[in-house]
Amino acid sequence: MRSFAYQAPHDIETAIAAAAFKPDEKVPTRAGTQYIAGGTNLIDYMKLGVARPERLIDVNQLAEPELRLIEVDAGGLRLGALVRMADAEEHHDIKRDYPVIAESLRLAASGQIRNMASLAGNVLQRTRCEYFRETSWACNKREPGSGCAAMGGVNRQHAVLGVSDACIATYHGDFAQALIALDAIVEAQGGNGRRKIAFADLHRRPGDTPHVETNLAPDELIVAISVPAGPWTRRSRYLKVRDRESYAFALASAAVALDLDGEKVRHARIALGGVATVPWRAREAEQALEGEALDEASAARAADAAFAAAQPHDHNAFKIPLGKQTLVRALLETRDMKV
Ligand SMILES: Cc1cc2nc3c(=O)[nH]c(=O)nc-3n(C[C@H](O)[C@H](O)[C@H](O)COP(=O)(O)OP(=O)(O)OC[C@H]3O[C@@H](n4cnc5c(N)ncnc54)[C@H](O)[C@@H]3O)c2cc1C
Ligand code: SF4
Repeated sequence: MRSFAYQAPHDIETAIAAAAFKPDEKVPTRAGTQYIAGGTNLIDYMKLGVARPERLIDVNQLAEPELRLIEVDAGGLRLGALVRMADAEEHHDIKRDYPVIAESLRLAASGQIRNMASLAGNVLQRTRCEYFRETSWACNKREPGSGCAAMGGVNRQHAVLGVSDACIATYHGDFAQALIALDAIVEAQGGNGRRKIAFADLHRRPGDTPHVETNLAPDELIVAISVPAGPWTRRSRYLKVRDRESYAFALASAAVALDLDGEKVRHARIALGGVATVPWRAREAEQALEGEALDEASAARAADAAFAAAQPHDHNAFKIPLGKQTLVRALLETRDMKV
C-alpha cells in the first residue's frame, strides 16, 4: 500500500478544513483527499491500487450527534451519515414505515460488512467492474482517456441503462435505489456551507467523464440523508435478483413504492438496480402505471417502458428480460402487501 497522511478530527468544521485542497497535493480532486467511514469500500480499493488518496480524513471520531441519529416523524425519515447499515435495517420504525429501505439494506453485503459500513459510504461506493478493479486493464474511470476494456471484454455484470461510449460500469448499491425511488435528499457540508441535493442529482452518468462520479465538491461531507413522508412509503419493497442468494451484488433489482386507490395506482415510485450506471429512477414506468389498475398486463407494460432505452453489449442482453421480470414481480408483490 502507498503512504498517505491520516487525520481523525473531532468536529465537522475541522474535517472540512482538513479536506480542503492543499497546494502540495498532486490531485486536486475528490480522489486526492478522501473521507473514510467504515472503510469497507475505500480500503479495498486502496489495497488494489485503484484508489490512491494522499490524505485520508477519518470521520468516525466526529462528535456531532446528528451524524448518528435515526429520526422518524410525521415529516419523514432522517438518517445521520455515520449510521451503520445494520442499525438502520433493524430500526423498528424504518421497517414499519419505510420497508423498502430496510430491505435494501438487509439484502446488501454480509452482516459483518453491514455492521461496519456507514450509510453515506454505502451510497458513495464505487463500481465493482472487474476491469476497474484490476489496474492492468484500460479503464476510463480509473485512468481518464485510457479506454474501456469492458466494451470488448466480459460484460455480463455491466449496465444496459445510462451507458456511454466511455463507460458501461454498473452502479452496484442497493440502498441508493430505495432512496432515489422515495425522492430522498442529501445534506452535504463543505467550505461554502451546507446545502441540500436531491438524491437523483448526487450521482453523475458516465458521459465523457466517467471518473467524475458525483456532484459533490472535493471537500463536501455528507452529513445526513432525509426521506420525505408520503402515502406510498408503507406499501414499498425491494426485490433483488442475484447469482446466489447470499452475499452477492444485484444482477437486477427493483425498489417499488405504491399509493393505491382500490386496484388503481394513484402514485408509483420505481427505481432499478443492477442494470444502470447510476441509481436509476424509472419515471417512464411510473407514468405508464398511474391511473391504471395494477395487474400483470399493466405491470408488463410499465416494465417495457422502463427498459425501452436499454443498450446491451455482448454478454448482458439477458439483463433486459431479467430486469423486466424483476420489476413485474416487485410491482405485484408490493400491490399485495398488507399495510
Ligand atoms: C464483499 C462485499 C460485498 C458487498 N455487497 C454489497 C451489496 O450486495 N450491496 C451493496 O449495496 N453494497 C455491497 N457492498 C458494498 C458495501 O455496502 C460498501 O462497501 C459500504 O456500504 C461502504 O460504506 P463504508 O462506510 O465502509 O464506506 P467507505 O469505504 O469508508 O467509503 C466509501 C466512499 O464514501 C466516501 N465517504 C464515506 N463517508 C462519507 C461522507 N460522510 N461524506 C462524503 N464522503 C464519504 C469515502 O471517501 C469513499 O469514497 C459490498 C462490499 C463488499 C466488500
Ligand atoms: S466499464 Fe467503466 S469502469 Fe469498467 S473498464 Fe470500462 S470505463 Fe472502466
